[in-house]
Amino acid sequence: MIIMKKDATAEEIKNVVAEIKKHGLRADVSRGEFRTVIGLVGDESKISFAHLAVLPGVKEARTVEIPYKLISREYSELFDGKDESRIVQIGDVRIGGEKPVFVAGPCAVESKQQLFRIAEEVKAAGADILRGGIFKPRSSVHSFQGLGSLGNEEAREALGWLREAGRKFGMPVMTEVRGEMQADLIAEYVDILQIGARNMYDQDLLGRVAKLGKPVLFKRHFGAGIEEFLSFSEYIVAEGNKDVILCERGILPVGKGKGYTRYTLDLAAVPVIQKESYLPVVVDPSHAAGRRDLIFNMSCAAIAAGASGLAIEVHYNPAEAKVDAQQMITPDELKEIIDTCKKISNTVKTHRKKVKI
Ligand code: PEP
Ligand code: MN
Repeated sequence: MIIMKKDATAEEIKNVVAEIKKHGLRADVSRGEFRTVIGLVGDESKISFAHLAVLPGVKEARTVEIPYKLISREYSELFDGKDESRIVQIGDVRIGGEKPVFVAGPCAVESKQQLFRIAEEVKAAGADILRGGIFKPRSSVHSFQGLGSLGNEEAREALGWLREAGRKFGMPVMTEVRGEMQADLIAEYVDILQIGARNMYDQDLLGRVAKLGKPVLFKRHFGAGIEEFLSFSEYIVAEGNKDVILCERGILPVGKGKGYTRYTLDLAAVPVIQKESYLPVVVDPSHAAGRRDLIFNMSCAAIAAGASGLAIEVHYNPAEAKVDAQQMITPDELKEIIDTCKKISNTVKTHRKKVKI
């Protein structure tokens, strides 16, 4: 990061930018009230900071030693001069604001009837955003892969239902982009693009999805540490898309834990990440717990940990669901969770402000 002198001229700024670009890096310029800051994006080994530091008009060349600098509070404070949490806004829905946001819907879209009924019922329960998988990541090639995998026509039809259901019941909609090939098609229909846990490491997919200009819900891989999770989200932000919602969805359980929960919900990750980054963090208790009977408690715990929202799988008849039936809750249970979580959120808000999370 290059911090220019207060009285640096436009010519001097242009010269520094040109020097950075000459070495194949991107130069992001922030013109503050008192000084201009130039952020470097790209392979930093290609350029000498000592050289940049002595260019005319430069006050200081500073290195930010974290791999996820663009999403960090530290960099943002230096670059934009502000320490504000980002609010991802989709229509009237604000993720990362004062109120928790609730994403709900089936694991997989199975039919128009199924989706519309669930959409209506989750909306009545208080959900803000409708989710539904159309391209499903599955461990076995012999199981249902989602309607999108049946062919282009089927994919368009299911995506059309999702968009229609969202409009009819007044909710933005979200679905997973499982591969680069589907990215453009999906972006035509939905408001939020979901990157699934298994794809957290796919930097080509991340770059591609980032460029579609829509908010991205970015799920943590079950084997990824916090630093890795944040570093990979940087691939989206580096493309100029800051509308990223981080999602904690459980990490691999150890030992005997495996027999009890599907994954281990890493709740401390929520406030830890919020201290590091300005991006909103939501929690998916459904895939983490993998058990219907734990969703209420884990949802409450996630909101108490400071999550900006929850993503929950819901079905009017859980036993009927083709995917993840064991973790699906009913719309009535969702309503109880939302009502309770709103109260919990109000209770913890004051404390969080006090300790500056
Ligand atoms: C999902 O949310 O539909 C999903 C498959 O979750 P994850 O990527 O976290 O496993
Ligand atoms: Mn699922």
